[in-house]
Amino acid sequence: MGLLGGKSSKSGYWIQHTHLFRADVYECSLCGSGSKKPLKNCPRCGARMKKSKYDPQWVDEIEIWDVITGD
Ligand SMILES: [Zn+2]
Repeated sequence: MGLLGGKSSKSGYWIQHTHLFRADVYECSLCGSGSKKPLKNCPRCGARMKKSKYDPQWVDEIEIWDVITGD
C-alpha cells in the first residue's frame, strides 16, 4: 500500500492532542511541528499527511507500517 505514488516526498501523519480548555492541536509525526488544523502537508517539513490519529494504538500500527514501507 502506498508505494505506487513515488517515494520522493516523505509522508507522515498528524498526532492529535486534545485539550480540555483549548482547541485541539495537531503535531507532525516527522518534525514535531504543531498545527491547529490537520493540513494536507506539514508547513514545516513538507511531509504529506495521510490522516490524523488520536488513538495511540493506531500510532503504533503506523510506525510498524513505516518500517515495512521503508520510510
Ligand atoms: Zn513536519
